[in-house]
Amino acid sequence: MPQGERVVTILGATGSIGQSTVDLVRRSNGRFRIEALTAHSNVAELAKLSRELGATYAAIADEALYQDLKDALAGSGIEVGAGEGALVEAALRPANWVMAAMSGAAGLKPAMAAAGRGQIVALANKECLVCAGEVFMRHAAANNATVLPVDSEHNAIFQALGAGQPEHLVRIILTASGGPFRTATREQIETATVEQALKHPNWSMGRKITIDSATMFNKALEIIEAFHLFELRTDQIDVLVHPQSIIHGLVEFADRSVVAQMGAPDMRTPIAHCLAWPERIEGPATQLDLAKLGQLTFEAPDPVRFPALRLVREALELGGAAPTVLNAANEVAVAAFLDRKIPFGGIARLVEATLEMMVRGGTAGAPANVEDALAVDHTARNTAATLLPEIALKAS
Ligand code: NAD
Ligand code: MG
Repeated sequence: MPQGERVVTILGATGSIGQSTVDLVRRSNGRFRIEALTAHSNVAELAKLSRELGATYAAIADEALYQDLKDALAGSGIEVGAGEGALVEAALRPANWVMAAMSGAAGLKPAMAAAGRGQIVALANKECLVCAGEVFMRHAAANNATVLPVDSEHNAIFQALGAGQPEHLVRIILTASGGPFRTATREQIETATVEQALKHPNWSMGRKITIDSATMFNKALEIIEAFHLFELRTDQIDVLVHPQSIIHGLVEFADRSVVAQMGAPDMRTPIAHCLAWPERIEGPATQLDLAKLGQLTFEAPDPVRFPALRLVREALELGGAAPTVLNAANEVAVAAFLDRKIPFGGIARLVEATLEMMVRGGTAGAPANVEDALAVDHTARNTAATLLPEIALKAS
């Protein structure tokens, strides 16, 4: 590839982050070339994007859809793959910038493969750090990969950290919108419907992360994400509720300077930062107009109405595989809630019960490799599934 050319692969191209990345590539007048694109099961969209952007490889996770994708791309010259191995193959293609934007722990292996190539990995998939943070960061460092945080809060902190030296860092502050139930009572939260939970006040995102925002498990996962990305102690990571989602993250240095990053709530801003890094490109988000906004407000987070914030501190304190268990149980719980099998309040109860059961049953130490992490993930999912009927029956 020509020196300086950015060759881009998007894992999870059909999702919310994937589409925002595609939007930026479209606007860039050929500055970025597309190597590989992947999707879970949306053959039509994957084929359309692959043709439009001139990808050389397209991979679909669902193996049964191989022929459909092959038919959809017939005559295009684009290579086609299906199944887990094809997702890893996509990550191994000769790109020098990979967007890891699959959702859930399923994104771990492809993200590891991308990091193993020593290129830039723009990491949106936070579950991968929660499930196997140490393993992933060690693997990236050993292969000289650059991990750029896409998650808006972590991207903000990454940018703010540039204002000082690591030895002068005191703490970081992750902001949280508070989600749709910020002002709701415990009772209202307990019985919230799928429709209510999917209505995020500020951000438009995939379903899993939107539910996570409503339970505040999203912020819980982000605490673990920050713990690994920035190598912090847990007491250096604070959460601040900021309903307008304008300040995305703050960093406090020893001299008590607090450096923040701001912007309209539009994921295309942090993605653009990663896409051009260390340069800058023009972003399409609405320009910030603070005078028009008038005021920014802040509140302390409430770990009683949002047990996720308590559970994450407990999981980090327990250490070992507890964060992996928390993540897996939460994925099962969110899917069950979306299937209307458990009440909204049951999500945190299922996570807590799974943690208890697995810790009582002797959770393993921190996963030493991907296989370990995925084995714990698998056991935790099974445990959560067996606890599900109990949670379904029991109101708070
Ligand atoms: P999404 O559900 O909109 O898209 C997920 C993408 O991954 C899709 O392309 C889907 O086809 C693919 N995918 C899903 N499951 C898969 C599987 N098992 N195998 C292979 N491919 C699979 O999700 P999203 O909102 O774009 O979020 C993606 C990731 O980015 C998540 O980890 C999320 O936490 C993180 N993130 C998202 C946002 C946001 O604003 N959407 C912000 C910060 C972080
Ligand atoms: Mg975030």
